[in-house]
Formats: sequence, structure tokens, C-alpha cells
Amino acid sequence: MASYDVREALCEIGRRVWQRGFVAANDGNFSYRLGEDTVLATPTRLSKGFMEPADLVVLDMDGTVKSGHRKSTSEIRLHLNAYRRRPDIRAVVHVHPPHATAFACTGIPVPKGVLEETEIYLGEIPLVPYMPTGSWEFARGLDPWIETHDVFLLAHHGAVTFGHDPFDAYYKMEVLDLSCRTLIQARQLGAWERLSPAQVRGVMEVKARHGMNDPREGLSDEELADDTVLPRQAAALPECFTPAASPGAAFPMITDEPKHSSPPKPEPHKKQ
Ligand SMILES: [Zn+2]
Repeated sequence: MASYDVREALCEIGRRVWQRGFVAANDGNFSYRLGEDTVLATPTRLSKGFMEPADLVVLDMDGTVKSGHRKSTSEIRLHLNAYRRRPDIRAVVHVHPPHATAFACTGIPVPKGVLEETEIYLGEIPLVPYMPTGSWEFARGLDPWIETHDVFLLAHHGAVTFGHDPFDAYYKMEVLDLSCRTLIQARQLGAWERLSPAQVRGVMEVKARHGMNDPREGLSDEELADDTVLPRQAAALPECFTPAASPGAAFPMITDEPKHSSPPKPEPHKKQ
């Protein structure tokens, strides 16, 4: 994708997330990895519904603005951490879609095995524990799942999606919020009916045939029916989730992170 097209794509996504009510005021941010040490990103303090290509900023992997007349957002750390850990992704979208965020506010996990489309396109969706926005702890909150998942809910905040290009990440966000909207409406009619573990495995086989990873391969029936993703990843939780973690670490200057000295080595998307 040529640089100009990427700028247009990010502005178009800005219009769509604003029109869909996934953001209010100046909320949300999305980015595209231009190269090993270069990221194109939306700026802070600007409605994403009214962005022009010249409003975007180019950053290095330490978050320093290299070109552009606007300032970057502190939430860019979420994107930079993702690009460091996932050399296979090229785009990140972070917004506050109301139906998905409703799950993130209640702590109710998005149920697995209810909607086939959700199973195919999103798989399971981790609910990342709350950390103050903009901190590196906030950015690293995704780490326990970051190598195996592309869609995340952020507790008390919103959602994040990864993609191989901006629209791939954006479409996952659309599917996420529509799925959550449908699940909320279905729940008003009655209990969610689940696919059986065998039926879920059938969906996973379809995904595998299309080259789509699903980190649940090899799980037991009980684990497949468990809506929380946390238990089997708990050992990988970073130190920032321990009680000793200091909330005072929020909003440090972006240069508090050690310099990113060597670019990440490309490697295939790992399976669990
Ligand atoms: Zn946010």
C-alpha cells in the first residue's frame, strides 16, 4: 500500500468510526507500520471523523514524532508495543465501540461458541485487566495474549484490533461491536445457546483450512466452553498486574522506555 493510500485509508477509517459512534470527541487512534522503524499514526486532540491526510504523524518505534505538524497520543504506546511483539501485523485500531465496551465495563467475557461469524473472524477475545491509559503498563497489558490474539477488550475502556492492513484491523472492530450488540440483544430474549465443543472444533477446522490461526487448538471440552481466557494465560501475566504495581507510573514521558535498539526479527505468527 503506497504511503498516500495509507493516509487516505486512515482518514476513511476515522470517518467510519465516528459515524458508527465508536468514538466521541477526539477519542480513538489507529496506525500503520510503514517500515521497521516507522509508524504512521493519527494525532491527539483531533476528531477522527474530520481528519485530513496532512494531520497524520510519522513516528519512530520509540514514539518520537519524525514528521507532521500535530502531536502524538500517549496511547501510541499500545501500538508500538504491539508492533514490537508482532512483526506480522501492519495496523492497529483502538476505539471505544459502545457494545463491546459494555462487556469491558461489566467484566462479562464475550461468550464463546454462540455466533459462528464471531468464531471465524475474531475467535476468543481476551478482557485485558484495567491499567491507566497511556502508560507502558497499559500498553503491555495485552502481552499475555499478544502473540496469539488479534482482538482485545480493555477493561473500563474500549477495544483494540490488529490487522495486516488498516481495513483488516477496522473490519475486525466492526465485527466485534456488531457481535457484542447482537449478544446483548439476544441476552434480553433469553440465555445464549452455545454450539457444542464438537461444533466449535468444526468451525476451527474451517479456519485452519483457510490458514486462520486459532489458539484454542488442543483444548479440552471444558476449556472450550470456558468464556474467560485469563486462567490458562495467568502464568504469563506481567508484573504490572501485581498489587505492588504503582499507579503513579501512569503518563510517564514516552522517553521513559529504553530505546528500541534493534528491530524485531520477522517470524511467523506463533501458535500456542
Ligand atoms: Zn482509548
